Amino acid sequence: MKTLAYGFPKLGEKREFKSLLEDFWKTKISEHELIDGMNTLKNSIASLYTKHVELFPSGDFSYYDFMLDTAITLGAIPKRFGEYKGLETYFQMARGPQALEMTKYFNTNYHYLVPELESKDFRLFKNLPLEEYSYLKQKGYNPLPKLIAPYTFLKLSKVLKKSELSQLPLYELLKIEHQADMEEYLNAVFPIYEEVLKSLKSAGATAVLMEDPALCLDTEDWEWELVHETYGCLSKHLDVYVLTYYDSVSDYKKFVELPVRALGLDLVSNGENLENLRKFGFPEDKTFIAGIINGRNVWRANLKEKLRLLEELSKITSELIISNSCPLFHLPVTVEPEDSLPEGLKERLSFAKEKLQELQTLKLAFEGDERAIEELEHSSRLTQQAFGVKEDIRKRIASLTPQDFQRDVPYSERIKLQQEALNLPLLPTTTIGSFPQTEEVRKTRSAYTSGKISEEEYKEFIRKQIEHVIRVQEDIGLDVLVHGEFERTDMVEFFAQRLEGIATTKHGWVLSYGSRVYRPPIIYGDVHRPKPMTLEEITYAQSLTDRPVKGMLTGPVTILNWSYYREDISKEEIAYQIALALLEEVKDLERAGIKIVQIDEPAFREGAPLKKKDWPHYFDWAVKAFRLCSKAEPQTQIHTHMCYSEFNEVLEYIYQMDFDVISIEASRSKGEIISAFETFKNWDRQIGIGIYDIHSPAIPTKEQMRAILERCMKVLPVELLWVNPDCGLKTRRWEEVVPALKNMVETAREMRAQVEVG
Ligand code: GLN
Ligand code: ZN
Repeated sequence: MKTLAYGFPKLGEKREFKSLLEDFWKTKISEHELIDGMNTLKNSIASLYTKHVELFPSGDFSYYDFMLDTAITLGAIPKRFGEYKGLETYFQMARGPQALEMTKYFNTNYHYLVPELESKDFRLFKNLPLEEYSYLKQKGYNPLPKLIAPYTFLKLSKVLKKSELSQLPLYELLKIEHQADMEEYLNAVFPIYEEVLKSLKSAGATAVLMEDPALCLDTEDWEWELVHETYGCLSKHLDVYVLTYYDSVSDYKKFVELPVRALGLDLVSNGENLENLRKFGFPEDKTFIAGIINGRNVWRANLKEKLRLLEELSKITSELIISNSCPLFHLPVTVEPEDSLPEGLKERLSFAKEKLQELQTLKLAFEGDERAIEELEHSSRLTQQAFGVKEDIRKRIASLTPQDFQRDVPYSERIKLQQEALNLPLLPTTTIGSFPQTEEVRKTRSAYTSGKISEEEYKEFIRKQIEHVIRVQEDIGLDVLVHGEFERTDMVEFFAQRLEGIATTKHGWVLSYGSRVYRPPIIYGDVHRPKPMTLEEITYAQSLTDRPVKGMLTGPVTILNWSYYREDISKEEIAYQIALALLEEVKDLERAGIKIVQIDEPAFREGAPLKKKDWPHYFDWAVKAFRLCSKAEPQTQIHTHMCYSEFNEVLEYIYQMDFDVISIEASRSKGEIISAFETFKNWDRQIGIGIYDIHSPAIPTKEQMRAILERCMKVLPVELLWVNPDCGLKTRRWEEVVPALKNMVETAREMRAQVEVG
């Protein structure tokens, strides 16, 4: 038996990756220094792997995103980026004014860049897999080159719809859905993969890891056939090890027939793969890669149970490799420096580094090593204790009735009451919530957390920021204001710190895209709200202005999906616990005179399982959790916000959430979301389709914003439309935000005048 690990977080224990990238972007360091720094990180990860496991990859370390790297390898570089000038073009594609669309990787909170396929002319443009492999090789390591498999690459890419090529930025990007298309695209890319494999072979590689998680989606029979053929060709050059993860493969029998050397399955995310293994066995002539250690959740494994499973697996399969269940980059680097977790929690946790140790221990125990066997006993004791149980919360959840999930008055009536209370113009303008988190804001917060300034001083500072942002918004002429979220580090962490039953870490950073990191909280006990969480800032903001200020909350599904969660009760129950805590907050805001409450759910879509058959169950409780926390008075206007996901297929479920207004990201995903409304029957909720791409420093022009708005007006009645950016402004600078919002408000006013004239 061998051990394999992959996807180790590239961030570094001190977030070195982030600093390097950002210093380079700010031209504080040279390209040479950037590369040097990245190489140091790369080496330290390789040496860590070497210490704990036998097999590990090269090609795991992208400067921005692995899908972008794959696109560049294959020469899929849209023409608008011009001639490829190394890192300059690379980062233009990632974060320039006309950057690629960004969306979440399967059901995770990692955002990848969506390759845009303008044609089927692929070529080996830059052999990144070879460069990475040769680099580690020359440093004395012996890695397995790792690539995104052709099928997954194409499933995650989008094709530019030709007819609208001229209408940038409103051109449409479509997924490859049809058999003939997929076949042509596969035929076009696989020769490039062949070239890469040949070059790897000449450089000394004997096998290659192919990540093919798209095989866990709803894969059709004809897709399996194409995948089968492709692997048949690729296997001629090198031994292929296929990795699948995040779910069970859609067709076990077809999967195990793939003509490759080794097959990897996720044995953690659900029980289906294991069931199938037991039922149908495993081909004798292939190696089985058992994804046995959870790569996504932070709990220490019950290694005693895992060993039992391994013993069973070793009877079913002839050759066994054990590995993490999915890439490890969903985890922080190590739990070692955490020193302020709730009593008893730290020893129950395992982050990426500890996962490598678990794999190692498991292997040693399997081979009969005594110390490792003792370690197994220890882990089994630790993982079986109950933690943070609150009987009254359990009872409240058990006694929920259908009324708890239903507002008292239907939308058609609510809207009238709300309009009376708010008196908003046509095409009302607003923002999504956060305003620039400047250096000053961050410094003052850290001065407060480290005790350098008092709580009163900090609160006074926040009040000043709120006052400023209220005045700025009034000057710009926005209709519905926000308080700016200056007191929040992160939209989930902020609530996690104020809720009982959820722990937050000091150093547990994880990359969400590019250099952006966040610290997912850890839900370890029953969740409840000891006291109001947002009341002070919101009511202060409202006291400064006559215009409505939105109360700003993060929704239950997003808090859950962006946290690590306990596994001893269902996700549904955790979501309801969080929802009840948020409902108390909504009630407090209403009592304080707040007329609009926005409950953000950017992670609503991403939590959906990979296969559509599992959607009804997920969306049933996700929708219910949202409705539970948003059961406000009829005249209170409930907003929600979503971004950076594929929403088109789930609009039906989104509609069921029964909000009054939704704001949804659209600038980067171009016209796609708008088209979805063309086919949606009877959409009657108000909606703000983001017309300003906040992930780019570029200031959108009135023409650009007008074009998107006009497109929306073709599809949706103007009475339903709001005007807003596509997400929060916290990563932007004031110098960008003010002129951009001015343009946005002017655009709305011009359109308003136009509509009113008729
Ligand atoms: N209200 C949050 C903000 O404006 C929403 C962020 C998000 O959707 N990711 O920052
Ligand atoms: Zn957003």
